Amino acid sequence: MKAIVVHEFGAPEVMRLEDVPVPEPQGTEVLIRVRAVGVNPVETYLRSGNYPSVPALPYTPGKDAAGVVESAGNGVTKWKAGDRVYTANSVSGTYAEYTLVDERDLGKLPENVSFEEGAGIWTPYATSYRALFQKLNVTKRETVLIHGASGGVGIAAVQWSKNAALTVIGTASSKQGQELAREQGADIIFDHSAEGYLNEIKEFAPGGVNAIVEMLANVNLAKDFDVLAMRGRICVVGNRGSLDFNPRLLMGKDATVTGMALYNSTYDERDEIHAAVFDGLSHGYLKPIVSRSMPLVQAPQAHHEIIESKALGKIVLIP
Ligand code: NAP
Repeated sequence: MKAIVVHEFGAPEVMRLEDVPVPEPQGTEVLIRVRAVGVNPVETYLRSGNYPSVPALPYTPGKDAAGVVESAGNGVTKWKAGDRVYTANSVSGTYAEYTLVDERDLGKLPENVSFEEGAGIWTPYATSYRALFQKLNVTKRETVLIHGASGGVGIAAVQWSKNAALTVIGTASSKQGQELAREQGADIIFDHSAEGYLNEIKEFAPGGVNAIVEMLANVNLAKDFDVLAMRGRICVVGNRGSLDFNPRLLMGKDATVTGMALYNSTYDERDEIHAAVFDGLSHGYLKPIVSRSMPLVQAPQAHHEIIESKALGKIVLIP
């Protein structure tokens, strides 16, 4: 089969399309014929080698994909050949024609969801669900700021928030990103690259926002307190550096700052997320937005674009 293989850490171009053997499922592993792969920023951090824990070389990147069950190990009880699924992890990497996944790390892909859309499910929807409902514990009629609403996680967070009857404030820096977040349910959108946008948020929500899903904490965490309500909560989802921070900001507003990494979630938390995702996709209030779809061989270009371009939903690779 064809698969992207990384032999050395470095620039996107270290990812090469190669011929490798199709892996064989053992025990509780399931072999998936991958039809579409979801690209996430973390795969660029890992590929560069600049991340707290990096994979052993050589490796095939990727955790998110959608496809069809090809075969299953003799310990598999939940899935059979032909089932349409999305992946929530991968043993062998998803940037490939086939991938091995433990049966607990698969979700059922509803018939009304295409494989391309399915590739953009797990990381964005699970991350945003966990931030909103398992960390920030948002409740009806609260106001939430999705600080970075145009990307994979942000769009998913907007859709969850809208369905939960929250007032949704989003931010994006391009016109198309702003338009997309608005179409997906944001009540109002501001431009996080414009001077004074936090003042505009304060005008819109004079009492402050109750909860913030933060996509770029090293840039925004201190500023978030300008718009946070008394007893407000912030969940750090994305971060690309460090900052100078005065903890007194927390005291002044009785605030809570929490962080999360999806890979820390328990299987109980994940089962709750899979059930919520299935409900949302089936009923149509969740709808993954694919902005760009490209052949697997263009994985290097996908990595350039996800870091260097303005966000607009998901980038998907087709093996
Ligand atoms: P993405 O699709 O590349 O989107 C990035 C988002 O960040 C876009 O909405 C972008 O907006 C926004 N952004 C850029 N500059 C910003 C600023 N100054 N303030 C606020 N937002 C800004 O990435 P993603 O998949 O949505 O992931 C978002 C972040 O969360 C990434 O850092 C990723 O590594 C992280 N993440 C963490 C977890 C976890 O488990 N904790 C899981 C998934 C992702 P514009 O392009 O419109 O400027």
